[in-house]
Amino acid sequence: MTFERLSDDDLATCVHCGLCLDACPTFRVTGLETESPRGRIYLMTQWKRGTMEFDQAQVEHIDLCLGCRTCEAVCPSGVPYGRIIEAGRADVEDARRPSFKRWASRTALRQLLAHPGRLRLAGLATRIAQTMGLTSVVRSGRMLPRLRPQYRPPDGNVAPAVGERKHRVAFLTGCVMPILYPQSHRAAIKLLQLAGCEVWFPPGERCCGALFAHNGDLEGAERLRESNMRVYGKGGFDALVVDSAGCGAHLKDFYPALKGKVKDLTEWLAEVGLPEPQNELKLRVTYQDACHLAHAQRIKKQPRDLLRAMPGVNLVEMRHPDICCGAAGLYSTLEPKMSNRILQEKLDDLLNTKADVVTVANPGCQMQLEAGLRGRGSSMKVEHIAETLVRSY
Ligand code: SF4
Ligand code: SF4
Repeated sequence: MTFERLSDDDLATCVHCGLCLDACPTFRVTGLETESPRGRIYLMTQWKRGTMEFDQAQVEHIDLCLGCRTCEAVCPSGVPYGRIIEAGRADVEDARRPSFKRWASRTALRQLLAHPGRLRLAGLATRIAQTMGLTSVVRSGRMLPRLRPQYRPPDGNVAPAVGERKHRVAFLTGCVMPILYPQSHRAAIKLLQLAGCEVWFPPGERCCGALFAHNGDLEGAERLRESNMRVYGKGGFDALVVDSAGCGAHLKDFYPALKGKVKDLTEWLAEVGLPEPQNELKLRVTYQDACHLAHAQRIKKQPRDLLRAMPGVNLVEMRHPDICCGAAGLYSTLEPKMSNRILQEKLDDLLNTKADVVTVANPGCQMQLEAGLRGRGSSMKVEHIAETLVRSY
């Protein structure tokens, strides 16, 4: 067993101080060292050095990591935990006993997510199944939002700026977002146009590969990067704007050729500015930090500033807005029990705010919170921050 992707240098940055423990959602609900960042780094270090034999039973501790990178954000020693867990997972995938669950998730990613045409067809079939009431029999089906007509880029793959054109941006349409939350994209693009941006939709763009990397399929992620880089090279743009935090974090880390160009929607709008709001609202809003925005991209201020600038919006904070909701890509499907324990803590925090709307910046969080609030019989609405911001126009 070689564990060749894990880097000794990265692992050696951990000084075992334990300052990350209380920030880790899996440690918070279990109190176990093995479910903490320090415990996981220790385990991977022993495997890498060969001082502990690789043990199938211990793999569970790696599987139970959300990859939320909260530990990375609070670590005083600069441990690159995101890079460690992605490499560690890829090494573990080579070493572990094959399981149907893992095989099915990898096959679904490679055969479905990487192919926009197949994904759109699957989305259409799911929408039909929903209207016939067939999706409520399986847990993953119950998690899904009510699907609407899918998002499609405009003819000519360009949406013009409103008024004077000040910027030209590329927009990541992505894989599942146009199917699950087309309204988020519509709102995001309207905001970009209002901010004076001409929006270009790179033809032939595919999934960015984030879910592949998070699930230990670095080779799959790399193939997608190569394919996407050929597409991005065909058009000039000031920024590649992304309205999904997980994708944005992956593009910033995994696409070095785009360094400095990838911008989260809120980061970009805060930079270029929105026009004067037109509507006065009466809305109590709380904001859930997406892990891959707050911890991986360190963006917490911009979304809050944008929300506070909306006339009539009262932004109320949760006690722990930056603790993961338990969604974490495929985690809620692969590790439903732990995901639900973390979600229940989040729902208590959320409901205490008595907000009308919880606003998010990532489709996974949106789906998780919607399902959780439905389960609690709450009328609190979950929406993407683009949908909240666009209410002012
Ligand atoms: S990951 Fe960072 S905060 Fe956590 S134990 Fe290691 S050095 Fe300390
Ligand atoms: S990534 Fe999240 S779940 Fe994993 S060890 Fe770090 S804080 Fe804990």
